[in-house]
Amino acid sequence: MNNIPCYPKKFISPKIILYNNKLADFLGINLDENNYDLLSQIFSGQKLFFSEQPYALAYAGHQFGFFVPQLGDGRAHLMGSVQASDGQFYEIQLKGSGPTPFSRGGDGLSPLGPALREYIISESLFHLNVPTTRSLAVVTTGEKVHREQEYLGGIVTRVALSHIRIGSFEYYTNINDLSSLKELVNLTIEKHYPELNIKNSVLELFKSVGFKISKLISKWMSIGFIHGVMNTDNMALSGQTIDFGPCAFMDEFSHSKVFSSIDKNGRYSYENQPSIALWNLSRFAETLIPLMDTTETEAISKLTEALEQIAIQFEKDWLDQMSLKLGIENIEHNNKDLILNFLNMLEKNQLDFTNSFIALFSESYPESPFSIEDICENKEFQEFKNQWDCYLKQKNISSADAFKIAKKVNPLVIPRNHFVEIAIEKAYKNDYSYLEKLVSIIQNPFELKKDAYSWTAPPKSSEKVTKTFCGT
Ligand code: AMP
Ligand code: MG
Repeated sequence: MNNIPCYPKKFISPKIILYNNKLADFLGINLDENNYDLLSQIFSGQKLFFSEQPYALAYAGHQFGFFVPQLGDGRAHLMGSVQASDGQFYEIQLKGSGPTPFSRGGDGLSPLGPALREYIISESLFHLNVPTTRSLAVVTTGEKVHREQEYLGGIVTRVALSHIRIGSFEYYTNINDLSSLKELVNLTIEKHYPELNIKNSVLELFKSVGFKISKLISKWMSIGFIHGVMNTDNMALSGQTIDFGPCAFMDEFSHSKVFSSIDKNGRYSYENQPSIALWNLSRFAETLIPLMDTTETEAISKLTEALEQIAIQFEKDWLDQMSLKLGIENIEHNNKDLILNFLNMLEKNQLDFTNSFIALFSESYPESPFSIEDICENKEFQEFKNQWDCYLKQKNISSADAFKIAKKVNPLVIPRNHFVEIAIEKAYKNDYSYLEKLVSIIQNPFELKKDAYSWTAPPKSSEKVTKTFCGT
């Protein structure tokens, strides 16, 4: 395969600012968390620790719908892999670690802000039980990065089950390299779908990937998460969330919400995420056609049929996740209308997505002294609540049972944009205490001590963050 050996850039004075101790323990990485010097050297790529030979991976991808035949790791180095305590191997990658043969004129660097955003958001998703790549460390490089202004550079260490993306397959399809494609299929099955029989299971692989991505997207939808750059190169076959560019959590609900400054047409808006994932899966299916041992026509018809099954699963998984949020476990009940009524009511009344689910259960929380009064007093919210109460009664679901189900999936706290921005702003000024607090708060999203209630507050209009940037 066309991955290229290469090394991170030399940085004179890297400095570790975040180290994910628990994750390090899970990965079996035995490093002294107080040895800042060593951590700074390792997580800036100055000292090789995970293997002798770092790599930049080759991949292509559809970016905003247009095919780019060669993307690849232009600012990332795969440093090696480790076996974690769950028995699985995890890849360790530095991002922002300097140019590679895939940089295409880019500087290979990242400002500190996006590195911190990736750390915060991935840590939050993990604790919200959403499949995700994780962040092990963030260092500052000590060097300036030139964007619309100068920023201090940062490197995030990403931990992923693998970095195989839909774009990896597209790369080898485009250069007609069937043997690498086969190797990729085998690798993907071995790593992520060992339950499949390697022989003859291309179609099964496609379905399994589709079902995993369906689960992933339904989880994103259920927490108001907007990935922001769902290009095919940013969609991992492991079904883990990958590539945290301009991603963000929604405050007040809107179906068509977009944060990314570059997503002018809203291609990757909240409501488009399921259909875009299916679009990406169609691109994946196209790469598999030559690998199926049937005629091309037959292969296309089988893959199309599989895609239809996956689309049905998308609807089911979405319904599943959203029902749980209303305290309903059994989706045999016809609750799609109920969910849509709720979402439409939220949008019409500009209510906060996360807190509105908490407000539905306001009586069940022992105390609810944080910012849900506005929601509870909203007339249309109250009307919906009556409708939902009737529904639960009709289905013989007690409020206690509904609460038991819902409290496991309705977070009290998410990394709201205005908090993330403050954390980043302060970090640029060498003040990391707010960042550390935010990280500790989002690590426990379903429980919240009273003194942490301020973290549940939606932004005041002056605090609203309307645009996010990917920092490339
Ligand atoms: P991303 O937005 O991280 O998904 O990046 C899309 C593509 O652009 C990938 O191939 C990246 O490696 C590449 N890229 C993004 N930023 C840079 C940069 N500063 N220097 C070099 N390549 C970059
Ligand atoms: Mg990417």
